[in-house]
Amino acid sequence: MTDFDVIIIGAGPAGATAGLFCKRFGLDYLILDNPEQPSQMTLATEIENYPAFERISGTELLKKMKNKLNIKEEKVVNLEIKKDKKIVTTERTQDEAKTVIVATGASHRKAGIKGEAEFLGKGVSYCASCDGMFFKGKDVIVWGGGDSALSSAIYLQNIGCKVTIVHRRQQLRAAKALVDKAKKLGIKFALGRTIKQISGKKLVERIIFDNNEQTKCSAVFICIGEVPVVELAKKAGVQTDENGFIIVDAYQQTNIDGVFAAGDVTITPLRQIITAAADGAKAAFAVYRYLEERK
Ligand code: NAP
Repeated sequence: MTDFDVIIIGAGPAGATAGLFCKRFGLDYLILDNPEQPSQMTLATEIENYPAFERISGTELLKKMKNKLNIKEEKVVNLEIKKDKKIVTTERTQDEAKTVIVATGASHRKAGIKGEAEFLGKGVSYCASCDGMFFKGKDVIVWGGGDSALSSAIYLQNIGCKVTIVHRRQQLRAAKALVDKAKKLGIKFALGRTIKQISGKKLVERIIFDNNEQTKCSAVFICIGEVPVVELAKKAGVQTDENGFIIVDAYQQTNIDGVFAAGDVTITPLRQIITAAADGAKAAFAVYRYLEERK
């Protein structure tokens, strides 16, 4: 058992930037990174809205962010909050710290429809950059109307898939720049449509809409948003909003003394790499201030 000033749970852009700033504030910090839950950033093949980089992949940018930080690749299984210490247990070890920054991010939302689980890995995917190449030259569906759906669709069309975006409303939620790019690339849109089933024999062959109309396809990429990874924090008593995101103040402080949160797991109005990184920096500053006040 070691005593740290702060343990950061998660090594996405929020956790890594928190680590960088903690290091610069001279804090004794440890980042714990769950190898089973890679940052969503690694799914982004082309990032064009992170300042100073015209274009960079998520994996490459994250590698740069994590460079030279004290990171242990272990899954956290329990977070125990005591008055003056936080005990963080992983699958292998246990560490103590005066404070904690929860930067556990978010994961893919499941659609919960017939065929989704059955065809996972057989045409159903949540990650265009991981599985797209298997469907080059094939008709694929991207399901969703946000930035993730549009970015995935653009990536798939660019590598040679024939993409149709299916979205439940007539209006897309995604940024105009992405919508314009998708249209320019010739991506098709089926708006105001809901999928009720994904079907096929051994592999995905079609989707079935609510009105029983069918469209042939070889893959369905489900990109319908995110759910926060909050189980550990919630179990420890950290308060969340009605959608499950951790409630923080301007200093990333949660309802529990000495417990901070940063990035996609929080009630941020914008879930981007730049905002997650900024949250991480603010959380590190808040930890520094918190510890200074208690000296
Ligand atoms: P999102 O913005 O929440 O969009 C989710 C989309 O899925 C919405 O269009 C939503 O429909 C739809 N949806 C949600 N639940 C559904 C269901 N059960 N069935 C059918 N459709 C459903 O999520 P996201 O696109 O994953 O983006 C998450 C965050 O990451 C956002 O802040 C986004 O800006 C950011 N991001 C940015 C980029 C970028 O390149 N800048 C790339 C990826 C992600 P409604 O519109 O009807 O609600």
